[in-house]
Formats: sequence, C-alpha cells, structure tokens
Amino acid sequence: MIVEMRKGASTQEVDGVVERARSVGLEVQLNIGTDKTVVALLGSNTGQLPTDMFAILPGVENVARIMKPYKLASREFKSENSVVNIDGIEIGGDRIVIMAGPCAVESEEQLAAAARAIKQAGASILRGGAYKPRTSPFSFQGLERTGLEMLASVREKFDIPVVTEVIDPHDVSMVAKYADILQVGARNMQNFALLTRIGKSKCPVVLKRGLSATVTEWLTAADYLLAEGNGGVILCERGIRTFEDSARFSLDVCSIPVVKRFSHLPVIVDPSHAAGHYSLVPALAKAALAAGADGLLIEVHPNPKEALVDGLQSLTPSDFGRLMKELKAIARSLGRYI
Ligand code: PEP
Ligand code: MN
Repeated sequence: MIVEMRKGASTQEVDGVVERARSVGLEVQLNIGTDKTVVALLGSNTGQLPTDMFAILPGVENVARIMKPYKLASREFKSENSVVNIDGIEIGGDRIVIMAGPCAVESEEQLAAAARAIKQAGASILRGGAYKPRTSPFSFQGLERTGLEMLASVREKFDIPVVTEVIDPHDVSMVAKYADILQVGARNMQNFALLTRIGKSKCPVVLKRGLSATVTEWLTAADYLLAEGNGGVILCERGIRTFEDSARFSLDVCSIPVVKRFSHLPVIVDPSHAAGHYSLVPALAKAALAAGADGLLIEVHPNPKEALVDGLQSLTPSDFGRLMKELKAIARSLGRYI
C-alpha cells in the first residue's frame, strides 16, 4: 500500500502514518521527495487491510493499493492451475468442457430431449434451472422442487452430471443433493450469505460474473467460497452491462486471459446470456475458446419457439450439433479437446 502525503505535510503527520502502520504489523519505507513524502507500507496482508485506516489520517492526500484485495483466488496464493473434477470430468485441464441445456426446466420431456441432443453432440454436463432469478416477479420463476426432481431423473436416465442454480441460502444443502454443480447467477455474485453457505457445502460451483462487477470484485467474491474450504470453484464470464445495446450484454472476452493471469481458477464462458440472440451465440462461443476458456455454458432448447425463458438465445439441437463440430476443430487447433 502506498500512502501519498499532502504537499507540505508536517513531520508529525508523517509520523502518525508510520505509527499507525507499525501498530498493525506493517513495515514502513519512507520516500522523502522535494515536494512530497510517500510512505510505502509493506506486509503480507496489505491487500486485506482497509485503505480508509490511512486515508483518514491528517496530512494524507491519497492511498493506493498495490496488492489485490482477493487472496485465495490469486495466482500468488497458488501458482498452478486448479482443476475441478466432476465425476471424472476435469474442468481446468486440457479438456474443454461443454455444459448445455435449457435455461429453465419446463417438463421432463423437454429436459430429456435436451439431454439426449446435447449428449449426442458431445456435451458432457446438462444445465437447467429449477429456480430462476427473474428481473420481474411476474415472469416464470421455475418449477422449483419439481424441477429438481426432473433434473435428478434425467441425470440418472442419461448418466450425465447436472448444473443448476440456487438462489436462496436456505436451499443450498437441499439443491446440492440434486446437483453435481451449483450455479450462482450473475445477480447473486455478491450475495455473501449465499456464497458462504455454498462454500460450507463444498459442492462444486459455477460463479457467474455480476452484470456490473469488475474482475477484481468477481475474484474477491470467489474468495468467499474458497475461504469456507470449497475448492471446486469455476468462474463463468457471461457478459457485462456497458453502453452498448446491440446485444443483450457485452461479452468481456478480455476477462478470460486476465483471470488466467491473476487467478488459478478455471474459467468458462456463457455466450448465450451475453448474446441474447441465437444468431450471435456461435461466434461468441468460438471467441471464448480462442481466448483460453476452459469450457462453455450454452442454452439449448428442443423447441426454442416454445421456451418459457430465453427462447431467443437458445440454440436448436441441430444448430448446437453444428456448432459442436466447429468447436471440436478449434479445440484441436489449440492443443485441447472436447
Ligand atoms: C442462467 O444461466 O439461466 C442465468 C439466469 O444466467 P445469469 O445469472 O448469467 O443471468
Ligand atoms: Mn437463461
């Protein structure tokens, strides 16, 4: 942490900063310039200390962080890539893992048709929401418990792991009984009570990036899961809100190499929610692989015209099959496989 003193700050004011720093176990390096004094604070936990404790002291102009606020998710904490193992399917290794299925579980027939199609095309994990965090309370909210039972039945029938969203901290242990991977939706990325419960559950989890969250905030949210001892954290970039309104969200392709640089956690991409339209999904999916994503989460519906949620951005089984062929070729060219 760097504390910049105001021009003309007194020796007592500089001493005040030094004393406060030493009182919390930090080492201090004083840099006395002709105009200003700059105090460098050194210690292993400066990323977790509030900057306010120095910013509030008399004579201080500005306090800047050098260390990142997240710790357990950082590459400094763990240098080698983390690999999350779901029933033998490794996420974060050489394999690119494709998760696909409908936005919402609507019926057992719909889910089974989706599972059959995505498995046949080479996807290895089935998605489907039983609890839907909708912007409006008047929109379809999901089949809830009945939806979870349908997921369990289709999972068994097709021998395929499932990922499903949990929105209420009190439901975590119940949903974890049905799911192989829990999903934290974008709107819940900073629901800290939910993250803590999921952390304690130790169930593998896909943590979606919040609509307006920076990469730093996203990785700091991941620390809530890791701090409870849940090592199965998979990050998911799904597009952020920008001034651009020609697609549903702006897919931040750049965040993939950025996350890889600063974190050991695997990162997958959801091109469907970023696109908002089926015609844009293939290009975003391919871009994600090229940028280094460890997997994709794609919405596929047996009949998008009839979908209760997100039909416009859902691929038909045949479009998904075509896309998978292209993705397999891209994976090969990257020295990876699907
Ligand atoms: C979803 O995956 O269906 C979903 C609601 O996604 P997000 O939280 O990214 O909007
Ligand atoms: Mn959706």
